[in-house]
Amino acid sequence: MKNDEFRRHAHDLVDWMADYLEHVERYPVKPSLKPGDITRQLPGHPPMEGEPFASIFDDFREIIVPGMTHWQNPSFFAYFPANSSAPSILAEMLIATLAAQCMSWATSPAATELEERAMEWLREMIGLPAGFTGVIQDTASTATLCSILTAREARSDYTINSRGFTPEHRVTVYCSSEAHSSVEKAVKIAGIGKEHLRKIPVDAAYAMKPDALETAIRTDIAAGYSPLCVIAALGTTGSTAIDPLRAVGAICRTYGAWLHVDAAFAGTALVLPECRWMIEGIEEVDTFVFNPHKWMFTNFDCSAYFVRDTEALIRTFEILPEYLKTSEAERVNNYRDWGIQLGRRFRALKLWFVIRSYGVAGIQEKVRYHLALTQGLAEKIKAAGDFEIMAPVPLNTICFRYRPPHVMGEAELDRLNADLMERLNATGKLFLTHTKLGGHFTLRLVIAQTNVDARHVDEAWAMIQQLARP
Ligand SMILES: *Cc1c(COP(=O)(O)O)cnc(C)c1O
Repeated sequence: MKNDEFRRHAHDLVDWMADYLEHVERYPVKPSLKPGDITRQLPGHPPMEGEPFASIFDDFREIIVPGMTHWQNPSFFAYFPANSSAPSILAEMLIATLAAQCMSWATSPAATELEERAMEWLREMIGLPAGFTGVIQDTASTATLCSILTAREARSDYTINSRGFTPEHRVTVYCSSEAHSSVEKAVKIAGIGKEHLRKIPVDAAYAMKPDALETAIRTDIAAGYSPLCVIAALGTTGSTAIDPLRAVGAICRTYGAWLHVDAAFAGTALVLPECRWMIEGIEEVDTFVFNPHKWMFTNFDCSAYFVRDTEALIRTFEILPEYLKTSEAERVNNYRDWGIQLGRRFRALKLWFVIRSYGVAGIQEKVRYHLALTQGLAEKIKAAGDFEIMAPVPLNTICFRYRPPHVMGEAELDRLNADLMERLNATGKLFLTHTKLGGHFTLRLVIAQTNVDARHVDEAWAMIQQLARP
């Protein structure tokens, strides 16, 4: 493609992008498709000759777009959001254009130094103490794995990296029964073994019970294990339960366990001083992760990982083959040594664009608005006699179910709500997902999409009532 063609197609694409964003509500939030519906439309073999861009773009519009779930539709209430915003999309265009590898200072000095600055800004924005240093990872899953690996190395005097596990390394890891699946995945990858992951029971609010944590740790110590690491969730994926950081931290201090905080979704709420109660006890935390790519209007991927001990992180991951040696290594950050991957995208740019475009106050205003919309809807659900709130609503996820007045068995309620969710999502007017709480099928509605407003929430609630009631 010649540069003048590139220019023309790029302009066309930007027009399409702006139209898409303007009319995103016209698309069904979730397509109704059967597996294979898209594959069938794609040739089984690659074209031998190059094709004109116009026909590629036509197929994008005709085959791909109708097969997408529209995460940027404001009536997307499912999972946790993967928000974008105009400044973030613009930054992504520039990132793709520069297409730089940001693995070391020398491979793009501005990328490294902007990442340092952006992470300092972010640390200040969410109220983490000055002792934390940030680095951008691709996902929270990766950050949690980095944390467990760093704990493993720091607590074994870096011997597992060199010699592998030996019989004297009998370690255990702890999280609540509501913790994200990425914890178990990390424990498996780190060679600790999922049999050595203890899932601690939760209280009525689905938060980790500190006394149960302490009991589990003592039992393990008595059996000859060393408690390596505890992962506390600030905002579980099921119901945004907040583990009690202060109590968990005190236990970690007593038993010498590393403490990692997974605030993947809820961390964004810390931009609000009124939400900082969640990090009371942060003094005992070793590492902390949250995802600007969920709720902070920054395109996937952008996960902010904060660590207290950068030296332990770097000692765990650093590599220095001859071809990567540079003369200024002593004076700069080489982020390839701060995580798993060597090559890195220039993700700081989009964070910088987002923070500067909205300003801290603009981000706070949006987050506050989401929280207010959520409390408003939670009140309405509570007031409706035939619905039930299934968990506390500390932030902007509502767990609820339809529960008509005539007495029904739990199995029937599960079936009724699963069926309600299917029918709601089949309308294409909204998209929500479910979880299980206390063994019960629970609808989950997350009010956090970049452009969600009262109208979308009101329409969703009207639709839910209409389709639920016979
Ligand atoms: C979404 C989520 C994760 C995983 O996030 P990725 O960035 O996709 O790896 C981890 N923990 C919690 C609590 C989450 O909500």
